[in-house]
Amino acid sequence: MGKEGAPSSLPLVPFPHRAEAFSSWLSRLAARYDLRADHLARHAGYPLRGAGELDCYLLPQADRNLAVMTGLSRRSIRAMRCGMPQRRLWVRDHHVWCRECVRDALLEGDEPWERRSWRTGATVTCDRHRQLLEEVCPQCGKTGAGCLFVSEKGRLRALCAVRGGKINLWGKPSAVQLPWGLAVNRTTLRCLNALTRDLNRSLVGQPLRTQWRGVSSDRPLTTIVEELTLIILITINYLPRPQPPLYWMQEQSDWKAAFHYTPAMLPVALAAGILMLASILLSDEQFFEELVFWDPLESQIPNEPLTADNYVVWLHPKVRTWGRQIVTAPFGL
Ligand SMILES: [Zn+2]
Ligand SMILES: [Zn+2]
Repeated sequence: MGKEGAPSSLPLVPFPHRAEAFSSWLSRLAARYDLRADHLARHAGYPLRGAGELDCYLLPQADRNLAVMTGLSRRSIRAMRCGMPQRRLWVRDHHVWCRECVRDALLEGDEPWERRSWRTGATVTCDRHRQLLEEVCPQCGKTGAGCLFVSEKGRLRALCAVRGGKINLWGKPSAVQLPWGLAVNRTTLRCLNALTRDLNRSLVGQPLRTQWRGVSSDRPLTTIVEELTLIILITINYLPRPQPPLYWMQEQSDWKAAFHYTPAMLPVALAAGILMLASILLSDEQFFEELVFWDPLESQIPNEPLTADNYVVWLHPKVRTWGRQIVTAPFGL
C-alpha cells in the first residue's frame, strides 16, 4: 500500500519501446486494467485533458506519481514526450501510422504502439519503410476515430473502433496522391527526411543538424514552416477552422494572435506536399531545385522544375512578397 494520497504501485507495467510516445505507452498501461488512458492519467494527478495532450504537457508532480506507480524513472517518462507545451499546435489530434511498423510489432507478438515521431505534424513518412504515413482506417474509412489502437482484454489490439473487427494490415495501403504533382522519390525523400528530423529536433529544443534559409535565434525553423504553411493554404484557398484545445486557448493572452497553422492540422498528403516544398526551397542544397518536377497549375503533368522563382509566381498575389522573402532569405544557424 502506498502512503495516504499517493498512488500505490501497479503490478503490471508494459515496458515502453525506445521510440514510443507517452500517450501510446499510457494507453497500453491503462489497457492492462481495462481503464482508459484518460482515467489513469487523472489518477496519477494529471488534469483531465485527454491522454493525447500529455505528449507535450509536463507536470513534474504527476510524472513523479506515475514513476511511483510504474517503477519507471521520471527521466524515461519525460523522454517519451514529443514536444514542449508551447509547441502544442504541432502535435496531431488524430492517430497516424505506418502499417509495416505496426505489422512488425504484431508479428513479434506485440501490441500496436505509436512512435513519438508520428504524433507530430513534422513527420509524414516512415523513415524505416520509406512510405507515407496512413491515417484512414482500412476497415471503416474514418480518420481520427481511434481505430487500430483499441483496448480490449488487457491490451491494445488492431481493431476498428467504429465497426469492431480486426483491421487487415497485410495488403498494400491505398495509393495516396501528393498535391501539385509531387512524388516521393530518392531526392524528395532525402530533403523531406532532413526537414522532418530538424523540425522534430526543434520541437524538443535540440540544435538543428542542417542549415535552412532564414533560421535565426528569433526565427526558429518551426516558425518559418508555419509561415510557409499559411502562405500555401491561402494560395490554395484551404483554411481549416482553427480548433486548438480549450486549455491552450486559455493559456494565451490572445489566442487568435498566438494561433498558427501547422502541418499537424492537415491531412497527411497535404502536409507532405507542403513539407516537401519547404524542404527543397529552404534547403541549402541548391542542386535539388531543378531536380524536382512539379505541376503547380495542376495540368496533370509534373513538368516544371521546382525553383524559388516559379514557386513565388504560383503563390496568391497577396502573399507573394512574403513568400519571396522566405525562400530567398540567407541561410541560418
Ligand atoms: Zn514503418
Ligand atoms: Zn475503423
